[in-house]
Amino acid sequence: MNADLHSHSCFSDGALTPSDLILRAQEKGVDLFALTDHDTLGGLALAIETASDIRLPFLTGVEISVSWQDTTLHIVGLGIDHKSQQLIDGLKKTRQGRIERAKKIAESLASAGITGAFDGAMQFVSDPQSISRTHFARFLVETGVCDSTSSVFNRYLVRGRPGYVPMQWASLEEAITWITQSGGVAVIAHPGRYKILPKTMSALLREFQRLGGGGIEVVTSSHGDDQVRRFAHWCKISGLYASRGSDFHAPQESHVELGAVPDLPHHVKPVWEHPRLQL
Ligand code: AMP
Ligand code: MN
Ligand code: MN
Ligand code: MN
Repeated sequence: MNADLHSHSCFSDGALTPSDLILRAQEKGVDLFALTDHDTLGGLALAIETASDIRLPFLTGVEISVSWQDTTLHIVGLGIDHKSQQLIDGLKKTRQGRIERAKKIAESLASAGITGAFDGAMQFVSDPQSISRTHFARFLVETGVCDSTSSVFNRYLVRGRPGYVPMQWASLEEAITWITQSGGVAVIAHPGRYKILPKTMSALLREFQRLGGGGIEVVTSSHGDDQVRRFAHWCKISGLYASRGSDFHAPQESHVELGAVPDLPHHVKPVWEHPRLQL
């Protein structure tokens, strides 16, 4: 089963419309797809419509930004009810502050000699409330300051560098509650990317499961083989389900194509077999 359960459209920081993304997923051989935009359900109605038109099995999704201890985490929700008022309100609250933060990012970049970043980043945005660091990265690449988005995230927009502005996102408990109370399964996204000690990772995964979290993204474009093994092992010992997704953002930017990530290890339970996700 080629399941790709993590992707972005232009409703957050992806480049394609939900319809183009769904068409591309089918073209690339994806058998089960989820759209998981950052902190918004805005693209889901269109995605559901297109997926149903072309008969591509589809799960609703979202990727919620969370502040936990002093780390930013991403929690993916799969199979959520995109009409859930609690989820809609919670995400609206989470997105609030993105525009203010973007202004501060632009001020910080201006102090480092890079001017016009706010308007420059906004050029790449479809919904202003979803303005993200990715849009700033596109501006910095377009203007020739950096040669790729990944080099942007080494030099700018991250802690200790110009353009870094801390944010207070949702709490872990809020994100998991909004997802599960709307009928979905909460999955911890790309755990290998968090810069935390192994001891802290264990504490995080235990707290996540205690609060009702259902799965771990074991296979994702940013995980190497060691990380796949490590998080598959955690699924095995904890009983959590395992998810798989490309985290695709844009054809020219994403080094991994839709559906083109390794298979899940055979000894884990795929998240699409979770009772709450039965189609
Ligand atoms: P934000 O939610 O505004 O803080 O933006 C976070 C987004 O920036 C992520 O969803 C990624 O799309 C992007 N991002 C963060 N770190 C990197 C990186 N090292 N390389 C490429 N994209 C990144
Ligand atoms: Mn993103
Ligand atoms: Mn993420
Ligand atoms: Mn993502």
